[in-house]
Amino acid sequence: MFRRILIANRGEIACRIIRTARRMGIVSVAVYSDADRGARHVAEADAAYRIGPPPARESYLDIGAILHAARASGAEAIHPGYGFLSENAAFAEACAAAGIVFIGPGAAAIRAMGSKSAAKTLMERAGVPLVPGYHGADQDAATLSRAAAAIGYPVLIKASAGGGGKGMRIVERAEDFAPALEGAQREALASFGDGTVLVEKYLIRPRHIESQVFADSHGTTLALYERDCSIQRRHQKIIEEAPAPGIGEAERAAIATAAIAAARAVEYVGAGTVEFIHADGRFYFMEMNTRLQVEHPVTEMITGLDLVEWQLRVAAGERLPAVPPCRGHAIEARIYAEDPARGFLPAIGRIHHLREPAASAQVRVDSGVRAGDAIRVEYDPMIAKLIVHGEDRAEAIRRLAAALGAFEVAGVATNLALLRAIAGHAEFAAAAPDTGFIDRHPDLLAAAPPPPAAAIAAAALALLHQNEAAARAAAGDDPHSPWAACDGFSPVLALPLSFTLRAGDASHALVATAAGPGAWRLAIDGAEHRLAGTVDGAAIRLDLDGAIHPGAFAREGEALSVFLDGAAHAFHLVDPYRPPGGEEAVGGRVIAPIPGTVARLLAEPGARVGHGAALVVLEAMKMELTLTAPADGTVEAVHVAVGEMVAEGQELLAFVADE
Ligand code: ADP
Ligand code: ADP
Ligand code: MG
Repeated sequence: MFRRILIANRGEIACRIIRTARRMGIVSVAVYSDADRGARHVAEADAAYRIGPPPARESYLDIGAILHAARASGAEAIHPGYGFLSENAAFAEACAAAGIVFIGPGAAAIRAMGSKSAAKTLMERAGVPLVPGYHGADQDAATLSRAAAAIGYPVLIKASAGGGGKGMRIVERAEDFAPALEGAQREALASFGDGTVLVEKYLIRPRHIESQVFADSHGTTLALYERDCSIQRRHQKIIEEAPAPGIGEAERAAIATAAIAAARAVEYVGAGTVEFIHADGRFYFMEMNTRLQVEHPVTEMITGLDLVEWQLRVAAGERLPAVPPCRGHAIEARIYAEDPARGFLPAIGRIHHLREPAASAQVRVDSGVRAGDAIRVEYDPMIAKLIVHGEDRAEAIRRLAAALGAFEVAGVATNLALLRAIAGHAEFAAAAPDTGFIDRHPDLLAAAPPPPAAAIAAAALALLHQNEAAARAAAGDDPHSPWAACDGFSPVLALPLSFTLRAGDASHALVATAAGPGAWRLAIDGAEHRLAGTVDGAAIRLDLDGAIHPGAFAREGEALSVFLDGAAHAFHLVDPYRPPGGEEAVGGRVIAPIPGTVARLLAEPGARVGHGAALVVLEAMKMELTLTAPADGTVEAVHVAVGEMVAEGQELLAFVADE
C-alpha cells in the first residue's frame, strides 16, 4: 500500500479522501490555489502545496504544477477526485511517465469513454442496449437532420465531448433542428474544444439509473448495485438513491450485466459508473464516467464498502472482495449555493453560519467548508452532501427530511428549501421519480410561506439579548452600574422597544416590554405574547407563551436568519434611519448577475433586437448564463470583450428600450 498520496482536488471530495487515507494510515498531501490557502481541505491534510492562482486552469487543471507538487512531496500516487483532471487521459499518462500511480483507470479507457459518440459505437459492439440515435462521424447538418427525422421527434442533441449537462438541446420539431444544432455545436466547441455532436431519441419521463462498477487488475469486474439519480435540475443531479426503487431482481441483474460488459469492453480498472436512461421498462446506455462519482456514498451506505479505500487498494494491486449483500436504502442530497427561484443561478458569498445535522451510523455529512469560508466564482458551488440510510426507502426519506431540517446555512442562497420540499413531497415518497420531477412541480419552488409567530419571536428574542449584551458592554466594568446586574432586567429595557422585521414583502411591527428577568411581553403586529428563553451563541431556546422551541439564529448586519422547527426564515431588520427607496432601477442596462467570464457576445453596437434576444453569454461557476434583451430595443454600446472577467453588477451593454 502507498505511504503517501497526493489529492489533486479541493473541497468536499478532497476532505472525503483525506478521511479514508488517515484511517488507513496513509499520509495525504493536499494542493491549493491562492484562493484556497485557508480552505478546509488544506487544514485537514498532512501537508499542502501551492499550485497556482485561483482560476482552475492555472491551478487545479495545471498538470505540470500538480506533478511538481507530487514530486516535491514524495507522493507515490495521485487521487484526482471528480471533476478537474479526473477524466483527463493526458494527465493519467503524465502521471505514469513521472513514475506516479494515477488512482483511476488507464488512459486508454478514459479516452475510449471520453467521447460519447465513440463510446456508443463501442457499446453497440459489446451488445449493450443504446438509445435509438445517430453517433456517426459525418457531422454535416443535412446528415444530422435526416438522422433526427429517422429517429423521430423529439430528439436530443448532445455534445459528444460533453459533461455537466452542457451543450444539450431538446428539439421538438423538424423546423427547429437547424438553429438548435448550430447552438449545440457552438456551445460544444466553446466548452470542450470539440464541436462533434450526437443525436438521440429524447425519451419522455425517463429515469436516470446508473451502475457502480469496480474492476481490479486481476480480471474481476463487479457491479455494486445501481443508483437512481432522476431528481435533477438543468440535467444535473441533486438527489440520488440506492438501490433504485421499483427495479426487480431480473432487471437489477440485467443492468449489472450490461454495466460489466461496458466496463470489460474498455478493459476498465478501478471505480467507474455506467449511466443508463430508463423508460417504459427498458434501459439504454448513456455514457460511462471513468472516475469516482459525487453520489458514491449511497453505494457505500448499502454495501458497507469504502469505495475510496478500494480505489487505493486496487491501484496498489490488491484484489476486490465479493459483492456484499445490499442492505437497506440510502439517499443523498446535494446542498448547493444556488437560487432555485432564479433559475438555479449559482450563488457566491461568505457562509457566516453553518451547522450540520448530527452524524450517526445513519446520517453522514460530506462537507468541504466551514463557517467563515467563501463560495467563490472559480469553483463548483456545492457546499456539502447529506447522506442518510434507512431499513427501507420510507425510513430513509423520513431521516432525510429530519436531517435537512437540521441543516443550517446563512450567508449564501442555497437549495435547502427545495431539497426539504422534495423530501416532504407525497409523490416523491410514493413512487420512483423521473427526471422531469422538479419541472413538473413548480410548487417546489414556491416562495417561502409567511413566517410563523414563533420564528418572528425567535428573531426578537435574539435581538433583545444582543441589545442587552451591547448595553452591558457599553457600561464597561463598573460593578455598580445598573447595567451590570446581569439579570437580564435592565432599567431602560422596561420601556417598550419597537422595531420592524421584514420577511419577503411583508413587514412585522414588534413591540417588546420587559416583564422580568429574561422575560418580555411581545406584541407581533398587535397580538400579545409572553416571550422568554435563552440565547447561547447561535443556539436559541425560545419560550413563546409557554411553548419551548429549540432553534438557532444568525445575523449579518441587517440580515437575520432563524432556524426553527426544521425550516429556515430570513428577516431583514428595518433601519428606521435609512431613507426609503435606494433600489436602483436597472432599466435598459444589461448587468452581470454574478461574476464570471464573457464567453460570447451576440450583439454588436447599433443592433436592433427583440425582447428576450440573447445578447451576452457569461460563463460562471461552470455554468453558462445567457443574458437577454430586457425589451425590444437597440444595443447602444458593448462595454466588454470576449474572455474578459466581469464583476457582479457590472454593466455589460448599454441598451435603449423602444418607447
Ligand atoms: P455527472 O454529472 O458528470 O454525471 P456527477 O454527478 O458525479 O457526474 O458530478 C461530477 C461533477 O462534480 C463534476 O462534473 C464537477 O462539476 C463537480 N465537481 C468537481 N470537483 C468538485 C469539488 N471539489 N466539489 C464539488 N463538486 C465538484
Ligand atoms: P452529462 O455528460 O452532462 O452527464 P448525460 O448524457 O449523462 O450528460 O445526460 C445528462 C442527463 O440528461 C441525464 O441524466 C438525463 O436526465 C438527460 N438525458 C440524457 N439523454 C437523454 C435522452 N435520450 N432522453 C431524455 N433525457 C436524457
Ligand atoms: Mg452523465
